[in-house]
Amino acid sequence: MALTSTIPAPTTTAELEKILAYAAAASISWAETGILERAAALRTVADYLDQAADELVRVAHEETHLPLARLRGELNRTTFQLRLFGEVVEEGSFLDARIDHADPSWGMGPRPEIRRGLEPIGPVLVFSASNFPFAFSVAGGDTASALAAGCSVIVKAHSGHPRLSFLTAGIVAAALADAGTPAGLFAVIFGTEQGRAALLDPRVKASSFTGSIPGGRALFDLANSRPQPIPFYGELGSVNPTFVTRSAARKRGGQIVVDFVDSFTAGAGQFCTKPGILLVPADSNILADIAAASFPAATALLNERIQSGYVDSLAALTAHPDVEPVVMGPAAFETPPAPTLVQTTATHVLADPEQLLAECFGPAALVVRYGDESELLQIAAVIDGQLTATVHGEDDDAVAPELIRLLSRKAGRVLWNQWPTGVSVTYAQQHGGPYPATTAPTSTSVGTAAIFRFLRPVAYQGVPQHLLPLQLQDSNPLQISRRVNGQPTSPKTPE
Ligand code: NAP
Repeated sequence: MALTSTIPAPTTTAELEKILAYAAAASISWAETGILERAAALRTVADYLDQAADELVRVAHEETHLPLARLRGELNRTTFQLRLFGEVVEEGSFLDARIDHADPSWGMGPRPEIRRGLEPIGPVLVFSASNFPFAFSVAGGDTASALAAGCSVIVKAHSGHPRLSFLTAGIVAAALADAGTPAGLFAVIFGTEQGRAALLDPRVKASSFTGSIPGGRALFDLANSRPQPIPFYGELGSVNPTFVTRSAARKRGGQIVVDFVDSFTAGAGQFCTKPGILLVPADSNILADIAAASFPAATALLNERIQSGYVDSLAALTAHPDVEPVVMGPAAFETPPAPTLVQTTATHVLADPEQLLAECFGPAALVVRYGDESELLQIAAVIDGQLTATVHGEDDDAVAPELIRLLSRKAGRVLWNQWPTGVSVTYAQQHGGPYPATTAPTSTSVGTAAIFRFLRPVAYQGVPQHLLPLQLQDSNPLQISRRVNGQPTSPKTPE
């Protein structure tokens, strides 16, 4: 109890120096730890977190106001994620081992023997998120994927849930120690300035972030300002536009309204994948149905910063001369804020996309009425990078092929007749997108492919067998799938 009743003090300069020195040393021994031991350590962390579920959920609830059931589900997702990365590590194909034997008759001239694989990038600094206190926080996806990749991890705790961060960190550290991992493999730091200092430290080799556009951009610029810039995987802002075609509105308008209200108000609108923009035919019943729909009660937002940021962005949106209220009462700007819906037209969005398509992080959304489906294509062409883009349509909609093509250039995940809230942790998941959705559109923060953000390719040319990493040796001691002379091989296929 004592552990979680006081707010941890900011990390001192001396403590930070010690944490960085340990992380640098641990990253070397952890990178050399066998993949079976690495997988076992990830499972131990998951087990310890599950055992502490009651206390973790209680403290998370006190600090974030999120409902207990939601937090329990999020903790399950977090421990599932750790175990899934354990499986990925054990299976070994993430090492992407490629072996090209020397070939004197290679098409462009004789080729030397080259062997290439992925290796841990080094100590990773994770800026944890406010809105997922488990799944995107201290023991969340970035921590799991970085540890799985073979990197040491320093988490900059989010100021919105410091006591939970401290409690979680203690559990993770104990689990890793009991699993026999190197000392200092994992640590948490507190304080805004300490986060900046750690990001500038040359021992940190990559960083990840989930939060606001200004915060993420400032830290991305800082990472790039270093004498040795490092990869910075920032997840920033997204309005997740949802396009409803004329035929879908006609056939399923009522259901779309019910599902939309559920989706944009889920978690009081504090999901990075909230459908913040809904485009509907002007002559459909959708707007009238939304105005008549029942909305959930006002719910406390995560913290004061999110509350004030929400009120400011909603005030800017509602003050726009081309925006009209649909569902908006005096409680829209209160603490807690009642869900709010406003409307405009596609013509107005095309005239001022920057203001009208700005993220409003909280329980608000903008309905955009269009006259002709060609306006859907025009809006898809002007939107910024997104985490998701959704189409509600019919298979034979004439606008669908071009709309999907345009949206695939703008969003990390394109959905058809589904809703973007709810991001499953799977092998094929992609949670990312072009700027400002993220600062690294080639990467994902969710799903097993997230491991690649913390791996670095190294090719070995002419290096003798005994000096090669295990994954590249002829005898395939790790028994993993590899690509030999361009052909995929499995441990059972002779190379
Ligand atoms: P934030 O203000 O960007 O903070 C995120 C993290 O970055 C925190 O640890 C914060 O430190 C740190 N940070 C931010 N700016 C910094 C700077 N200039 N120098 C050093 N450290 C800095 O995000 P937030 O508090 O989670 O939420 C605020 C807004 O972010 C929301 O209203 C919403 O718009 C957006 N958001 C987006 C997502 C998404 O997934 N896209 C998720 C959550 C929030 P401190 O905690 O010490 O201040």
